[in-house]
Amino acid sequence: MATGRDPKRSAALAPGAVIGIIGGGQLGRMTALAAARLGFRSHVFCPPGDAPATQVTDRATRAAYDDRAALDAFARAVDVVTFEFENIPHESVKLLADHVPVRPGWNVLRISQDRALEKSFIKGLGIATAPYAEITSPDALHTAARQIGLPGILKTSRFGYDGKGQQRLEPASDLDAAWRALNTEAAVLEAFVDFKCEISVIVARGLDGSEAHFDTVENRHVNHTLDTTIAPADPTIVPARVAREAERIADAIADGLDLVGLLAVEMFVTRDDRVLVNEIAPRPHNSGHWTIEAAETSQFEQHVRAVAGWPLGSPRRLADAEMKNLIGDEVRDWQHHAGAPGVKLHIYGKDAPRPGRKMGHITRLKPLSKRHLQSIVGSRW
Ligand code: AMP
Repeated sequence: MATGRDPKRSAALAPGAVIGIIGGGQLGRMTALAAARLGFRSHVFCPPGDAPATQVTDRATRAAYDDRAALDAFARAVDVVTFEFENIPHESVKLLADHVPVRPGWNVLRISQDRALEKSFIKGLGIATAPYAEITSPDALHTAARQIGLPGILKTSRFGYDGKGQQRLEPASDLDAAWRALNTEAAVLEAFVDFKCEISVIVARGLDGSEAHFDTVENRHVNHTLDTTIAPADPTIVPARVAREAERIADAIADGLDLVGLLAVEMFVTRDDRVLVNEIAPRPHNSGHWTIEAAETSQFEQHVRAVAGWPLGSPRRLADAEMKNLIGDEVRDWQHHAGAPGVKLHIYGKDAPRPGRKMGHITRLKPLSKRHLQSIVGSRW
């Protein structure tokens, strides 16, 4: 049972408290494992079906994200609610928030669920994105294509992920057909960014407003899905000044959102070293999996610490690392990875590999540079 509480309470949750996790995927699974290490219990809320998070917790509610009775009972059974997946109805989040602290709050979810809102919020903080326009009709798409220019990418405002709900538009594309094919009421047209590389920064923000970000990493995508993360980003590709700018941007967005929890900020680095924000996710993120082995505090522990009102842990990187997702059939090579020296294997326990499905990941730790080693050791002894 949840402990008695005042929803507005800001004190740290004690070990034994119950963390409610909305979403039953691998991010929820790894969050629950990190919560258990700190003595918390986790209660997962997700619809019926394959849900790897439920394999590692003894409490789960299997119901639709708009099932009011199930949400109500869940809210009464946990001490705080957080998310591993942000596409849940606002009304549900509000209902939960009537009973229990919800971290991050519903306004953060509302902004991150909607690409148009997200981009205007980021722009409002004085932070650059690719040029874009909001599109709600074929006429608006024609006008925006003239103003922004093509090639561009047309993206649904809501419920898109890993390249789903997106279309690349060329100068010769049939815009009316593209709009119809997207089958949505609201979208954004973004200028196509001829980027040098993609990077991300994960930042945690605590109840007291303190912040801690992990190092800037480089992300390589295959078929619009993250394939590999390189931590830290190679300074010959992402100069230190650019990496620090990305970290400043992530900190500023977390502050602007008044976030409590974790925020992943995905960015493009242009060929002339400008940083443009692509999208944000207020939860643990695939590009932060390397932190499990290679940082003083993992992103999952950091997330739990933030939502439980604990002091944030040190995000210091202890080793250079490369994380590779095992997508679809790649997981069948588990025996090879299990025997490979220096490789840490994570398998999510999903029932069947399907093309594009994230089944697990491996992290390879790399020897530290002498300079980085000195920066760690020198500051301690
Ligand atoms: P998203 O769902 O917005 O994260 O997009 C998925 C991937 O599509 C990104 O990681 C990029 O590789 C690519 N992409 C998205 N937006 C753009 C853009 N405006 N210009 C170039 N590539 C893009």
